[in-house]
Amino acid sequence: MTSSPYACACPAAQSLPTSFPGSPRWPGGTAQGIEIPWIKFKEIEAARKDLAGAGLTLGPCGPRFRTVTACPGLPVCRRALADSQSFARQIDQKFSGWLLPHKFKATVSACPNACSRPQENEIGFCAAVQPYMEADACMGCGLCVDICREKALVLQDGKPLLDKSRCVLCADCMQSCPTDAWKAERMGYAVYAGGKNGRHPTQGEKIADFVNEEQGMMIIQRCLDFYLQHGKKRERLGDLIRRVGRDEFKAAVLQ
Ligand code: SF4
Ligand code: SF4
Ligand code: SF4
Repeated sequence: MTSSPYACACPAAQSLPTSFPGSPRWPGGTAQGIEIPWIKFKEIEAARKDLAGAGLTLGPCGPRFRTVTACPGLPVCRRALADSQSFARQIDQKFSGWLLPHKFKATVSACPNACSRPQENEIGFCAAVQPYMEADACMGCGLCVDICREKALVLQDGKPLLDKSRCVLCADCMQSCPTDAWKAERMGYAVYAGGKNGRHPTQGEKIADFVNEEQGMMIIQRCLDFYLQHGKKRERLGDLIRRVGRDEFKAAVLQ
């Protein structure tokens, strides 16, 4: 985009076929934001009005809860296990712009491929499904064994046997089975906390498994309460967790 960028006149979005789910839409690749450089401070209000006319709002910056990112999820990506966009929107509507000790990023991925990098955000959600097999429904074709990239399945006595230690909860086996023998034992989001990128990148730690959206919202709320109560100015969440101890942090946000 080179001219009138904030008019939301993205040619790619305009030219998507109307049969495309949710179209017309901006298909992504900008971390859910469009950066418009060189707007003078005194012109921000006019720009804000122009953007509002196009249905866009200014994203928060500085020491705030930033615009929530998400992978495309359902129904766009064939691997998706959840509607990551809708959950991200819910998070964004409640928390975006909150003033905090430092920047705070959140993201939602709809499967363990983790395309929006949940381990590299202050809080990251990653959808997962724990499969179990109904042996009576299995005809022993071996398709799920071949499809599992983690080698978590082996055929034993004509039926697939699951090695849970290798399983990454992606549900590929479920989607491949011609007889629907694989079912979901548990599904929901894994939650990572304390990750960040930049000069000193650190991976967030998984603090919960298989949470639903309501539980996820509670975890964020408690996380922010903890951050506001204990965080020092310009201290990222991950640094706070290391300073006070992960057990104390987890006890506070998972109560
Ligand atoms: S995280 Fe999974 S569902 Fe989301 S875009 Fe990547 S592969 Fe698709
Ligand atoms: S969920 Fe994924 S990793 Fe686990 S057994 Fe099925 S295909 Fe393999
Ligand atoms: S794909 Fe289904 S039917 Fe085939 S071996 Fe796996 S569970 Fe059994």
